[in-house]
Amino acid sequence: MKNNDINSSTHHETLTATALGWVDEATDAMALPLRPSTSFLRDPNQLDRAGRIFTRDDNPTFLQPEALINKLEGGIGCLLYASGMAAITSIFQRLQPGDHVVLPKLVYSGLRDWINTHGVRWGLQVTYLEDDGEALQQAMRPGQTKLVWLETPSNPTWQITDIAAAAAVAHDAGALVAIDNTVSTPILTRPIEHGADIVVHSCSKYMNGHGDLIAGATVVAPQHEAVFNELQQLRNEYGGVLGSFESWLLLRGMRTLSLRVKAVSESALLVAQFLQASDAIEEVMYPGLVSHPLHDVAAKQMSNGFGGMLSFRVKGGERAAKLLASKVRIFRQAISFGSTESVIEHRAGMEKPDTPTPRDLLRVSIGLEHVQDLIDDLQQALQAVTVER
Ligand SMILES: *Cc1c(COP(=O)(O)O)cnc(C)c1O
Repeated sequence: MKNNDINSSTHHETLTATALGWVDEATDAMALPLRPSTSFLRDPNQLDRAGRIFTRDDNPTFLQPEALINKLEGGIGCLLYASGMAAITSIFQRLQPGDHVVLPKLVYSGLRDWINTHGVRWGLQVTYLEDDGEALQQAMRPGQTKLVWLETPSNPTWQITDIAAAAAVAHDAGALVAIDNTVSTPILTRPIEHGADIVVHSCSKYMNGHGDLIAGATVVAPQHEAVFNELQQLRNEYGGVLGSFESWLLLRGMRTLSLRVKAVSESALLVAQFLQASDAIEEVMYPGLVSHPLHDVAAKQMSNGFGGMLSFRVKGGERAAKLLASKVRIFRQAISFGSTESVIEHRAGMEKPDTPTPRDLLRVSIGLEHVQDLIDDLQQALQAVTVER
């Protein structure tokens, strides 16, 4: 694969639009071919001719999306996985029984559920944080705490964690910091720059951006080559590798990542401001609002916007929230986020009964529709709810 030196650009618009400028050596094709081969030919002496054996270890189709994500995040290497959960759990699979991990109580619910069942069964000691800052310092057990897991902005209340401050506390106690960067994407936040050791993505959301594949990725900070090698071996041995077709499709989606993330961030701020001005809304949760308790921290570690995700609590409780979600016409009532179309979800209803998510909370993913259509849609739904209440 020839490389046009686009790597020297540090602008994410150029990096994503050109997908690093790779060109197929054999044909000069500007979109690299998909290579589904399971295995790779050996020479007469049984040696691997291309340094490849089997696609569970490695496949040439992975290389360009992995290089692009790694470049955007500023790591030593990136690995693709069959899902975000496969990427996340691989970070925990590095740990030993008895190791202590710290994570926020309000975190992606799939991870919380995994920790509470499999993580605990594996022997992990777990501390859930009520909030960041002081609580993190108190939770640390120097020598025993091996991993601090953070998500910022975090699902589904969009709390912000100061990555640099958290990394200083974690590193003091000898722990690594992993950041789930699914919501921010590297267009808004580059956690490694702020001291994170590992970055994780569900590429099923913004990275692909078209709601048509499940994938995950890990990126490791430059100083942790040994961690990268370990994760690479774990991916091979647990087998949570991405399909070559999905790798190819992911790269195609990522070419518009910058454009999409900037557009949804702009619209989300306008929608958040609209909701904040409504009498029918109890609270709007969006880090781009100056009223967000950690807006300053968000502004410090995010650039190009505050993302396309926001939540709001509806006056009238769970019943009113569910009613509102049933009245929208352009927003779709569905799970997941980061696709071209806007979705709305009564989040507590999708999580386990013991979820800490407020029951009057609706989570919204802003898409690429005209923002006035989205605001009008929410307006008519709010009116319908007020009439029926
Ligand atoms: C969706 C999601 C995951 C899980 O990713 P999958 O690709 O669905 O396995 C992890 N973290 C966050 C923040 C997510 O939104």
